[in-house]
Amino acid sequence: MLEKDSVFLTMEQAISAVCLDFRQYESQVLLFSEIIGVLSKGDIIARREMGKEGIWIRRTGDRKMRWLEGPQLIDGMCDILSDSRPDPSVLAAVCARVFQTRAFPDKDPTTGQPGIRILTGMEGFTCRQCGKCCQRLDYHNEVTAGDVAYWEQAGRSDVLEWVGAFEKDGQATIYRIWMKPGTRTVAETCPFLQKISDENKWICRIHDVKPRICREYPVSRKHAVMTGCPGFGN
Ligand code: SF4
Ligand code: SF4
Repeated sequence: MLEKDSVFLTMEQAISAVCLDFRQYESQVLLFSEIIGVLSKGDIIARREMGKEGIWIRRTGDRKMRWLEGPQLIDGMCDILSDSRPDPSVLAAVCARVFQTRAFPDKDPTTGQPGIRILTGMEGFTCRQCGKCCQRLDYHNEVTAGDVAYWEQAGRSDVLEWVGAFEKDGQATIYRIWMKPGTRTVAETCPFLQKISDENKWICRIHDVKPRICREYPVSRKHAVMTGCPGFGN
């Protein structure tokens, strides 16, 4: 297996990645029911209702079943996952279902720490240069301080003029891309996206220095499918 085809996550990182997935998409009710089945040691009872986008859940200590849907269900699932303290094989089974790929217990090659190795499922991916990700996804808050520091070091004022910086007392600066220069408004589309004339294809004018969120998109086959990327021919 190629290193680039898989990622190793510690147990804590894997739990965070699963919760990130839960929060990233609309409530995945069918998936959540399956995961409760994987995690439950008889301490969680769950029941779905036909045609409804929620789950009745009762955990040890609850007096009765609670109906959870939408953001409440997503929060509830993250709580169940963290509280369950799954062992590596159970967490691998959860990751495999959530990321729709293979996952198995492994050890950090450097520290020996236990965790999960997850196959990205990215083999077979080809960017079709359709530009959908640049135009449709809301990635504007995902720029990192590292991206900004890199542009500063590289003297990329052409990029920086489209970056908004927001400071709150005592907190780290938060950055936002792509803000119309001199305003607090996000541009209709990325200023660096350019259509190839006479072709229904798009290129990134700052490909070599684009932010990490753009470099890493999509992170997995599921991510591509769930966000409308046709890179797998879907
Ligand atoms: S949506 Fe997918 S195929 Fe289209 S440009 Fe983005 S990464 Fe490439
Ligand atoms: S920086 Fe490049 S990859 Fe990122 S949104 Fe803009 S055009 Fe797309």
